[in-house]
Amino acid sequence: AKQDGRNNFQFFSPAMQAQMQERIRTEKELRALIPTDHFILFYQPIVDAQTCTICGAEGLIRWDHPERGILPPSEFITLAEEIGLIGEIDSRSRLKACQQLAGWRQQGLVADDFVMKFNVCAQLLTDDDLYQGILDDLHTCELPGNCVSLEITESILISNLERTARKLQQMLDYGIDIAVDDFGTGYSSIAYLKELPARTLKIDRKFVQGVPENPADCRILRAMIVFAKSLDLTVVIEGVETREQARICRDYGADYLQGYLFSKPLSPRDFEHFLHNHNHR
Ligand code: C2E
Ligand code: CA
Ligand code: CA
Ligand code: CA
Repeated sequence: AKQDGRNNFQFFSPAMQAQMQERIRTEKELRALIPTDHFILFYQPIVDAQTCTICGAEGLIRWDHPERGILPPSEFITLAEEIGLIGEIDSRSRLKACQQLAGWRQQGLVADDFVMKFNVCAQLLTDDDLYQGILDDLHTCELPGNCVSLEITESILISNLERTARKLQQMLDYGIDIAVDDFGTGYSSIAYLKELPARTLKIDRKFVQGVPENPADCRILRAMIVFAKSLDLTVVIEGVETREQARICRDYGADYLQGYLFSKPLSPRDFEHFLHNHNHR
């Protein structure tokens, strides 16, 4: 509360009040919806930079809201992190992704080396339940470790890296890939790579947007790829929207590409159609 000095308390402006009410409403709905199943995963293909064949997908969560329609993660993930619901949400989306992958493998829609990637909020890395949950999901779905990848997305600076590194190493020992997401933004920095046993580096779309028009952007992107390759990391570039960008990323040495050029994130049905069309091209 702000005091303006004349015995007059100004709490919040009408705009702030509306924002808070909106937040409280969303929070209530999120809590109520957790036990029901109103989350869905969309899938965005990831292609080999050299051959442009599909070699995996990233599961991206959506909230199928009864009144507001399909909501993107930007509408609720930060809130879920703040109110401690992200663990529940992530474990649900992870199980969905694993079940979906198992189904596609059984139907022969994807090959054995197709990799399903899912987002893990960095704040959960200190929780042992995460690691057991991942192994349980793989076991339940009868999937080998090498067909999944954990994309560590960081909204906060994670603590206790040493212990986390040991846990992640265990995941690697199961064949599970560990990727640092959004590299170059926020807390996703070089210091992280020093501490965590990542195998894959995912370069944020921010670094692709200005390519090729902006020469500085091109140099930065190239330097990031060279840097990652010199650490023997697998490089995925997200946000590839044009053929020119795809060609440049490939020439710079990127391993995998993801972006609207290939496809936007798709519902499971649409992704199946996409795979089908691709397999029969
Ligand atoms: P992210 O992991 O960096 O995912 C990439 C985002 O970029 C996705 O947004 C995707 O739809 C978008 N994108 C992909 N290709 C292009 C492109 O060519 N151009 C543009 N402009 N955008 C592109 P989305 O689906 O809205 O997800 C946003 C973020 O939400 C994700 O960013 C991820 O950090 C987070 N997220 C999504 N699902 C989950 C989840 O299950 N758990 C957690 N903790 N976070 C999630
Ligand atoms: Ca991601
Ligand atoms: Ca992110
Ligand atoms: Ca990103």
